[in-house]
Amino acid sequence: MPPMNASALDLLQSVFGYPSFRGQQQAVVEHLSEGGDALVLMPTGGGKSLCYQIPALLRQGTGIVVSPLIALMQDQVDALREAGVAAAYLNSSLGADEQREVERQLLAGELNLLYVAPERLLTQRFLGQLERTEVALFAIDEAHCVSQWGHDFRPEYRELAILHQRFPAVPRIALTATADPRTREEIVERLSLQDARQFVSSFDRPNIGYRVGLRHNAKRQLTEFLQGHQGESGIVYCLSRKKVDDTAEWLAEMGVEALPYHAGLDAATRAKNQKRFLREDGVVMVATVAFGMGIDKPDVRFVAHLDLPRSIEGYYQETGRAGRDSLPAEAWMIYGLSDVVTMSQMIAQSESADERKRVERQKLESLLAYAEATDCRRQLLLGTFGETYPGPCGHCDNCIAPPKTWDATVPAQKALSAVYRTGQRFGSGHVIDVLRGEETERVLSLEHHRLSTFGIGAEMDEKQWRSVFRQLLAAGLLEADAEGFGTLRLTAASRAVLSGGQPVKLREDARPERGSRRRRDSKIVTGGSLGIEAYEQSMWDELRALRTQLAKQQGVPPYVVFHDATLLAMLRALPANEDELATISGVGEAKLKRYGRDFLAVINAQE
Ligand code: ADP
Ligand code: ZN
Repeated sequence: MPPMNASALDLLQSVFGYPSFRGQQQAVVEHLSEGGDALVLMPTGGGKSLCYQIPALLRQGTGIVVSPLIALMQDQVDALREAGVAAAYLNSSLGADEQREVERQLLAGELNLLYVAPERLLTQRFLGQLERTEVALFAIDEAHCVSQWGHDFRPEYRELAILHQRFPAVPRIALTATADPRTREEIVERLSLQDARQFVSSFDRPNIGYRVGLRHNAKRQLTEFLQGHQGESGIVYCLSRKKVDDTAEWLAEMGVEALPYHAGLDAATRAKNQKRFLREDGVVMVATVAFGMGIDKPDVRFVAHLDLPRSIEGYYQETGRAGRDSLPAEAWMIYGLSDVVTMSQMIAQSESADERKRVERQKLESLLAYAEATDCRRQLLLGTFGETYPGPCGHCDNCIAPPKTWDATVPAQKALSAVYRTGQRFGSGHVIDVLRGEETERVLSLEHHRLSTFGIGAEMDEKQWRSVFRQLLAAGLLEADAEGFGTLRLTAASRAVLSGGQPVKLREDARPERGSRRRRDSKIVTGGSLGIEAYEQSMWDELRALRTQLAKQQGVPPYVVFHDATLLAMLRALPANEDELATISGVGEAKLKRYGRDFLAVINAQE
């Protein structure tokens, strides 16, 4: 148990081993410790947990944390126990005896923190028990689950306003990484947080670099990308289950520790793969969007998209799973014209109401605008969340190597007019044949070689034309048909281009990338994105091996023992004794006692 009368900073340092608070953490901690209610909006990896964990330690009684995901609870509780905090959870994964033991600890006032699933919290039995104990605070994690507009709606979350009615004197804190203002309003209303102070952080993730490219040869591009991330954990997102299976299998053949995850796999396989991803270093999860919610792994070094995600919000959430530990991480995506067609088809063929489809199409358009952007991607991303990000970030592909643009007004006019002349009934392939003057069977049988647009675009090759069509779609100057056959039609905006009133600027498609920009030294085997140098390699691997071994012994994921950031600090500082080790960020008193000797032995053996 932490010392009585400790200050928030003392606890941060002695229990969690961190030298200082980050961002708004301290303000939140102080506000909550003094009994105020709070609504905290912080991006993933911003450090939300400490915002209620430290006040729970500072205040009398037990902090009750509502969390929607069983896997997440277990991780958090493991991590807290490692740090010497009396923590437990109550959910359906416990047996009857274990549950009774936790309840006993709660009633005896032995717990600093108790994590509960919402449905459990709301039982009369549990609420009754809470009335007989001292509650330090209520923390409502993933508070966006209360919102119907969000994607993670949980009906039980709506009932949580009862906490305010039954325990008016207990401070409450709601936390979410969902930035959207509409969701925020709904959280305030549904959880009766009208009087809560709002702590809104920037949603920028400065340690994530963004890169978007065209798909030429997905496998080769992915291989080259992964060369810069050997031995690192990452997620590769694909649109379909089949592509997940194929990609995972192919990567495994290439010697990558890759596992598949999608809703078509049986529950046992999913659980097994997820567990390996969490518990082992360097596993690559190939997955559909079914994977990721509640994945709290701090050391995911990259998130790769092999297909377009569903929306910018989805993209931001998925890429946000990289680099929670604030160390360098990469969001990498490749996409092609066919994605746009597939996505349009999926929208068209879904059972949603027309209004919903309209929204989905808008979302696709803004995603395409992001993909085709020629300016800073971070600025654009944050802009879609209503945040003004000043200036180029210097850390996305467009900032690093600004793409060239060209005046494509005339080719755009030719393309649009060929779509029109062929009757708006064909996909880009056929229209390009007409433009290029190819006498294919189809062209001849449809007599399209007699059209005035036949052959007017022979000066550009097929690839250049595909680039034009893709970008016209992205710019909303063409649309794929709503019925979903991939045929192209003009839009209301096409007219201005056709009549010559509106110039069209397109980006020059970059040449396929050769190798990864991060790969600096071919001898580097692991830890490439963390900047591990060749001479540090063996020590790094040994530190990681020791961490894995200790984690296995305790049955926890490696990052529960120490984060990469902490191992990295050890690697750089090479502490000679316990006093020096204690100064390293992430080494608290409990961990120093438990692991200090083992890590010092590894460090000192090499010198
Ligand atoms: P969130 O829930 O907002 O996604 P977490 O609470 O899981 O974020 O914290 C993200 C990571 O940052 C964790 O690994 C955590 O240990 C670390 N962290 C949080 N606060 C600090 C701090 N003040 N100093 C150093 N590391 C921190
Ligand atoms: Zn940028």
